[in-house]
Amino acid sequence: MPILYFCIIFACFYARMRYIINIKRHPFGGKFLAINLFGFIFTRHELLPRQLLHELIHSRQQMEMLYLPFFLWYVVEWVVRCCVYRDRMKAYYNISFEREAYLCEKDENYLKDRHMYAWIKYLRQS
Ligand SMILES: [Zn+2]
Repeated sequence: MPILYFCIIFACFYARMRYIINIKRHPFGGKFLAINLFGFIFTRHELLPRQLLHELIHSRQQMEMLYLPFFLWYVVEWVVRCCVYRDRMKAYYNISFEREAYLCEKDENYLKDRHMYAWIKYLRQS
């Protein structure tokens, strides 16, 4: 089973997967415009180029962290930041993955120039 997992990860990495799935309801009932799970972008609306790039940055982050560790790190960092800020949305916007995505989503060439694990420099608290 782990071999299959790593085969899928490497296939995704080299194929630079980009699947957009239109849904009627958000899978977690939130107000988020889109959610990216394992490179699959679930959205209720057609995404603007900036929003698509935001999600593609998350796809790259997930791939380089081999997917499952990304989600684990994401949740742990959100919980830690919730304790620090005592505000769920402020914690969300300050997750390092989100900070990278929001700050770089307007740069059309960002993914071409981006270094692996670029999100690490966004770990510092603002
Ligand atoms: Zn995001």
